[in-house]
Amino acid sequence: MVSLQNVSSGYNGQEIIKDASISFEKGTITTIIGKNGSGKTTLLRTASGLLKALSGKVLLNGRNIKEHSSNEIARQISFLPQTRITPEISVYNLVMHGRFPYMGFTRISQEKDKKAVEDALAKMGLAEYRDRNIQTLSGGERQKAYLAMVLAQDTDIIFLDEAITYLDINHQFEILNIILQLKKMGKTLVMVLHDLNSALTYSDRICLMDKGRIILYASSEKIVESRELERVFHVNCCPVAMDGESTQYVFTLKKD
Ligand code: ADP
Repeated sequence: MVSLQNVSSGYNGQEIIKDASISFEKGTITTIIGKNGSGKTTLLRTASGLLKALSGKVLLNGRNIKEHSSNEIARQISFLPQTRITPEISVYNLVMHGRFPYMGFTRISQEKDKKAVEDALAKMGLAEYRDRNIQTLSGGERQKAYLAMVLAQDTDIIFLDEAITYLDINHQFEILNIILQLKKMGKTLVMVLHDLNSALTYSDRICLMDKGRIILYASSEKIVESRELERVFHVNCCPVAMDGESTQYVFTLKKD
C-alpha cells in the first residue's frame, strides 16, 4: 500500500503539491481529477517515488519509500507516464522491459520472465503482434502493448497517467475494462483521467485536486453530492440513471 503523510513536492525547490495526505487502498481504483496544472501528474510521480518529496513522508507498505531500492520499488509499483517516446522496439521486447526489475544486472530472461511476457501478451490480445515494431502500431494497440509491459512487471500497485487520452471511444472502453480486470486481480490502481464521467463511473475513490491541494478524497457519489467538482471545473454535473446500467454523469458549462 502507498500512503502520503503531509507531503509537499515540486520542482527546483518550488512547492507544487501542498500538504497532501492520502492512502491508496489495496484492490481499489482511485482516479485523480483536477484542472490542467492542478498537480495530478506531480502527485502521481511523488506517490510512485519518481519525484522526491520536499517534506512529509511517502510510505510504501509502511516503510519510507526512500529506504527502498529502485529495484524494490519497481517490483511493487509500476508507472505508465502520460508522454512517452516511441522507441524502435518489438512488442515482445517492450513487454520484456517489465521484467527488468526481476533480472538483475545481466538482464538475461529466465523461463518465468518469458512466461510472464507470454501471459501478458495473451491477456492483452497481442500475441500475433509480438514481432511488430511498436512504431507501426495504432495508438490503441500501442497503449495495450504498454499495458502488457505493466502486466508483465506484475506489481501490486499501478499508476497510470492519462491512459485513455487520445484513444477512440472503443479503445477507451477496452482499456478501462482491462483496468477493471486488474482491480479484480487485487491490484491497486491509481490513475489520472480527464474524462469526468469515466472517472466517476469506474473509480472506487476520486481524489479531487485544485491548485496543488487535495480538496476531497471520497466515493463518486460523495464527490458529486459535495458539489466541489462543479465549483472546481465551473460546470453543472447532472447524474443520469440508465436502465439496468450504472449512473452516468452529464456535464454542462456553468452560466453566470
Ligand atoms: P496536471 O497533471 O494536473 O496537469 P502537473 O503536475 O503536470 O499538473 O503540473 C503542476 C504544475 O507543476 C504546473 O504548474 C507545471 O507547470 C509544473 N511542472 C510540472 N512539471 C514540471 C517540471 N518538470 N519542472 C517544473 N515545473 C513543472
